[in-house]
Amino acid sequence: MDIDESIILRADTLKNEILKHRRLYYLNDSPEIADADYDDLVLELKALEETYKELKKTSILDQVGFMPNEAFSPAEHFVPMLSLDNVFTEGELSAWYDRTIKLIGESPSFTCELKIDGLALSIVYENGILSRAATRGNGIVGEDVTNNVITIGSIPKNLKSELKNIKYLEIRGEVYMRRSDFSVLNAQRQSTGLSIFANPRNAAAGSLRQKDPKITSERPLSFFAYQIVSDVRLPWSEHFETLKLLQKSGFEVESHFRLANEIYQLIETVRSLGSIRDSLDYDTDGVVLKVNEYKYAEMIGSTSHAPRWAIAYKFPPEERQTLLKSIEVSVGKSGRITPYAVLEPVRVGGSVVTYATLHNFGQVKLKDIRENDTVVIKKAGEVIPEVVRPVVELRGPDSIPWEPVQNCPSCGSELVKFEDMADTYCINTNCKEQLLQRIINFASKQAMDIEGLSEQRIKFLLGKELIKNAADLYDLKSLQIENLEGFGKKSAENLIQAIEDSKSRSLDRVLVSLTIQHVGPVAARLISSEFKTLAEVKNALPERLEAIAGLGPVTAESVHSFFSSPLNIPIVERLINYGIGNEKTSESDELISSSHVLANKTYVVTGTLERYSRTQAEDLIRKLGGKTSGSVSKKTTAVIAGNMPGANKIVAAEKLNVPILSENEFEELIRS
Ligand code: NAD
Repeated sequence: MDIDESIILRADTLKNEILKHRRLYYLNDSPEIADADYDDLVLELKALEETYKELKKTSILDQVGFMPNEAFSPAEHFVPMLSLDNVFTEGELSAWYDRTIKLIGESPSFTCELKIDGLALSIVYENGILSRAATRGNGIVGEDVTNNVITIGSIPKNLKSELKNIKYLEIRGEVYMRRSDFSVLNAQRQSTGLSIFANPRNAAAGSLRQKDPKITSERPLSFFAYQIVSDVRLPWSEHFETLKLLQKSGFEVESHFRLANEIYQLIETVRSLGSIRDSLDYDTDGVVLKVNEYKYAEMIGSTSHAPRWAIAYKFPPEERQTLLKSIEVSVGKSGRITPYAVLEPVRVGGSVVTYATLHNFGQVKLKDIRENDTVVIKKAGEVIPEVVRPVVELRGPDSIPWEPVQNCPSCGSELVKFEDMADTYCINTNCKEQLLQRIINFASKQAMDIEGLSEQRIKFLLGKELIKNAADLYDLKSLQIENLEGFGKKSAENLIQAIEDSKSRSLDRVLVSLTIQHVGPVAARLISSEFKTLAEVKNALPERLEAIAGLGPVTAESVHSFFSSPLNIPIVERLINYGIGNEKTSESDELISSSHVLANKTYVVTGTLERYSRTQAEDLIRKLGGKTSGSVSKKTTAVIAGNMPGANKIVAAEKLNVPILSENEFEELIRS
């Protein structure tokens, strides 16, 4: 087939791009683009080569890795270190499964292992003693990093078990950096003015591939073994046994490996391993599925760049690159201003993302995020997408730093930043956007729960000036609204009835509805357990509020100043006159405890806290749906440590990688 000039040009561009990114990734350990974006380039070139077979003659897609860096002695591999073919969907996995069974002619079993995001390492043992370690390089020749590898504590220098008697043995696996070690390393580097690593994979590769082994020895590197290569036939027949033997022989092996037979089991496994990846202390980018029986693996062999007996099922990317089109700001119900990024839509973490939070002005400055930057977006698990960093290398010459807005985008009044607070505020209480957000909060499920009072309807009622604040809702008459757009007689009556019904909401919900700074469902419950009515809370002296266990002085002060404000007093008094806030019963208890971040999590409280007795803290955790325990185990979500915490508990938490929270962090958690 004659190939159009434009296709040849596109293929050349892709090749050059891919080679450039391989160099940056493998040789310099500093990639410019996210892995998923690199994979997209490869997929596009692959598709072109499939359509225009002529292009295959000059393909670069069969090459493994990159030429070794000449700064290291070359280390030729006795058996080539190949790459892995990828699949990205369950359908593609199914097709690979069918192909493999067809090639073998019988049904093998498969081992499923998490794919660790680090760099491959080969370690040679002669008569049980470590004699050489090498990176993968281009698969044929790697870089000799023996002196560096010797400094990694978790790699055995002498083999245990029956492996020690084998004359020549090569162990392959992945060098990686734990997420917790990576955070500490980056914090240390930042505090000494050194550049920080973009992710644990780059940190691991950059740390292993050092000319000076002393530097490697100072870096927290770890190693998971996953393969044995030998020139003699191994006296066992399955890969699963290899993994168990590696464990017995002093190697760390990623512990979630398992066996599967049928395709539905493979799919179940990739789903369940995918669901735990956020909870691990190391980055994983997929699951490697390998034919378990060596006789079958040998039978189908390898292509020039990847084994046919294995496949990497890649998880949906958590990081992606995209264009940040503009930085906008939103006004919250308390007047807090939040900058956010408007993005070129991008698929990340399984969904399409168009907006990402930038948290506050300080964060934008610190990360130097600018409009028109290419940025890395991250969406881990359920978390709201955020901008991790700009890709500075791709910035144009006319790029200028972003300047925070000085005025509220809704009402135009000057923004205020209070000392000791990260956020900026619009303090105009008549600001239209704040008003809208406050009434949305008032009517929301967790507050007055007014059915049918949607954001759109609130906007409409505000626009028609039928309401100016939440109290006005209770003066609305069905007749006033039944002829308005979007209403009819029935829907108007229903809305008025729903507003009427909301008068009986419990005191804690009423407190949530008022938009008092720092008062969410938890603080509202603490307050409502001390008072009978809204009128009592309104008249409470600051000392009485401060004495509420768990509330804290800042929240107490905020409650007091809210009810003393001349702007709020008439509204609150009207609400009281309508009979609102007389119901003490906490009907939202169940709602809070099942939906709170603490729900179903287990905490251990240790040491003396400043603002709670141990029993109070534990009661609070249980009220919020969490569990408490007296000892730290793998099931512990976090340890809350006050002064003089129990040494055993701290040691156990560190060993098991259980987070240790301060009292302040605990309070942040209960308020979230
Ligand atoms: P790969 O990383 O997709 O798969 C092969 C590697 O997986 C092996 O070499 C091994 O190191 C590793 N691995 C981890 N756990 C394993 C296990 N349990 N069993 C077997 N192997 C395991 O392939 P590759 O050829 O090394 O690299 C291609 C990938 O590298 C791309 O898909 C992309 O993610 C990344 N990359 C990124 C850029 C960039 O610019 N961001 C550039 C080049 C490559």
